Amino acid sequence: MNTRILIVEDEPAIRELIAVNLRHAGYLPEFASDARSARRQIDEHLPDLILLDWMLPDASGVDLARQLRAEARTRELPIIMLTARAQESDKLTGLETGADDYITKPFSPPELLARIKAVLRRVAPAATEDAVEIAGLRLDPKTYRVTGNGTLLEMSPTEFKLLHFMMKHADRVLSRARLLDSVWGDHVFIEERTVDVHIRRLRLALQTSGHDRLIETIRGGGYRFLPA
Ligand code: CA
Repeated sequence: MNTRILIVEDEPAIRELIAVNLRHAGYLPEFASDARSARRQIDEHLPDLILLDWMLPDASGVDLARQLRAEARTRELPIIMLTARAQESDKLTGLETGADDYITKPFSPPELLARIKAVLRRVAPAATEDAVEIAGLRLDPKTYRVTGNGTLLEMSPTEFKLLHFMMKHADRVLSRARLLDSVWGDHVFIEERTVDVHIRRLRLALQTSGHDRLIETIRGGGYRFLPA
């Protein structure tokens, strides 16, 4: 899965330098040169992380960070502030906005990449979670493998995430909206029937070992993963 990083920076040279390094490290950079266009892009689709310049032509990065933290949809969005000012007070204010980290210009690309990696690791605990097993179906977040009675089952990252969430919440009725929020992290611009499409694919993937029977459709309610 490509990790999308939105670079909000008005200086083209810095933007380009960061982009080159992000691409090289396997990330997908996206750009905004002011707060308004950053906002528009975030509304359209949520990036995985934002690099947010402190001083933007139309607003301060700090204000944008505060806004993002105040809204449910963007509350968890990882933010790293970029600033030219090195004073300690700036650092404090930067963290008070809810930014996950803070880096002072000029910074070295390896330093920036290390910070990005650290922040992404902090916000994506899935990889450190324990395996879950229900009725012979086993999902291991560490190895990214799903097996049904010992047989490896192939599925896409989205189906994997969906299955992981459902197994962790077995026996509970999960509405489509709940699944979109938890698996896609963003249900404003995705239609609820997207869930049905992925459930269908997931059932297909689980058919190999007969575990598709564990996913129950609840009429008018959503889906439920049977506890056994
Ligand atoms: Ca700037």
